[in-house]
Amino acid sequence: MTDTAGTGALPVEGVPAARVLDEIRALRAADRPTHGGRLFAYVYDPGVAGLDELAQAAHAESAHVNGLDPTAFPSLLAMENAVVGAAARLLGGGPGTSAPDVVGSVTSGGTESLILAVKAARDARPDLAEPRIVVPVSGHAAFAKAAHYLRVALDPVPVDPVTLRPAVADVAAAIRPETVLVVASAPSYAHGVVDPVAEIAAVAAAAGVRCHVDACFGGWTLPWLRRLGTPVPPFDFAVPGVTSISVDLHKYAYAPKGVSVLLHRDPGLRVPQFFAYADWPGYTMVNPVIASTRSGGPIAAAYATLRHLGEDGYLRLAALTRDAVAGLADAVRAVDGLRLMAEPESTVVCFTAGDPGLDLFVLVDELTARGWHTQPQLAYAGLPASVHLTVTAAVAPRVAEFGPALAEAAAAARAAGPVVLPPELLALAGSLTPEALTPDLIAGLAAGLGLDAGSAPDRMAAVNTLLDAAPVRLRERLLVEFVGLLQRPTW
Ligand SMILES: *Cc1c(COP(=O)(O)O)cnc(C)c1O
Repeated sequence: MTDTAGTGALPVEGVPAARVLDEIRALRAADRPTHGGRLFAYVYDPGVAGLDELAQAAHAESAHVNGLDPTAFPSLLAMENAVVGAAARLLGGGPGTSAPDVVGSVTSGGTESLILAVKAARDARPDLAEPRIVVPVSGHAAFAKAAHYLRVALDPVPVDPVTLRPAVADVAAAIRPETVLVVASAPSYAHGVVDPVAEIAAVAAAAGVRCHVDACFGGWTLPWLRRLGTPVPPFDFAVPGVTSISVDLHKYAYAPKGVSVLLHRDPGLRVPQFFAYADWPGYTMVNPVIASTRSGGPIAAAYATLRHLGEDGYLRLAALTRDAVAGLADAVRAVDGLRLMAEPESTVVCFTAGDPGLDLFVLVDELTARGWHTQPQLAYAGLPASVHLTVTAAVAPRVAEFGPALAEAAAAARAAGPVVLPPELLALAGSLTPEALTPDLIAGLAAGLGLDAGSAPDRMAAVNTLLDAAPVRLRERLLVEFVGLLQRPTW
């Protein structure tokens, strides 16, 4: 690497292409491994040889094409319509179905799809001064983000601590005259359970309210699993009352990052999603999604991935994933002191510890130290802290190694014992209000936890334990402060 590599100091003389790529590769060496089936969050890997190269080539082909104007770049419009058509067909829409008029848009990700679903629902009701949405607490955090960005009130519905699903009666009771949208997940990200979509959509329809099914995670797996014989409850446009569905292609369609699809049952439902503006002297502007300038790269890469894998490819990958899920669940059951949060019904394995001698956050660090990257989830509203595994097809060849690694990590976590934070720190976390946090306090906390500006610590158990001890609002504030410490320019 050159002396200024990885810093904000632009080299005076440009660095040759090969050297720049070397710099990036050197930086990438510190990342979690995106291939190899040992990473259970963030990255979706089918383990298909040649797919990366295809997606990269397709991405490069269209990277400089601008989705801002579909008339200037008809290639993007064609690929977008094809991708939306494939998603709609997979999710119970299109010719010959009960939802023949489905339309959709390609967005940059699940969060954007959900923000736009909320925007469309809100703007369809300009008569309401204070629009509201009903979301089970197991719904993705992006709904809260949408509500926050769009100034829509959020009515959370609790989930049953055993089934991890909302009661339909609670959803019905939460619907008010100002409700513009009711949400169901298929499945929830945290636990991988599918909400009672048909019943939720029915109570929404009875109240004349839109119902969005968040299938960001499961929209590209549940249909294939169903074809393979796994029991999957109805969750798509075959369910009357479902007005929109989101599905992330950068998850289980195995496309590179930056592609999700938001579908509406008919074009009229989609109209308030769009933003058009002609009250300025510049170009006529109409944006179906949040971004205006949009790279064609992700859309072309998704198009290529879908075409290359095809139905047979996705069925094969879904079968591998299903078997991997079963194997991982067995591995969890085999470890004393661990238990599944729910029997897996999709592509998530989520477990918790039923034994105070086995600290889950320490277990996560022990797994990381052994090269297995899992995702800790904090205790919330009566639900215990848990560990989330997003399972993809690339995990299949690793399943046999996971069991012994989990058992070993659990033994090491028991031997190490639970994280013990200084009592004053814990007391602080339990009693501090976000408003009372001063820069000095934050610096003290960060130092106490080993969080140095600009780099993430190897072991996260202490940080997670502190967050776990804090009430929700303080957790949020601490997260903002800690990540604010990481995001500092290098000069
Ligand atoms: C991943 C996910 C989202 C958010 O998607 P991003 O692409 O990360 O913005 C929303 N809902 C569910 C169920 C998800 O799994």
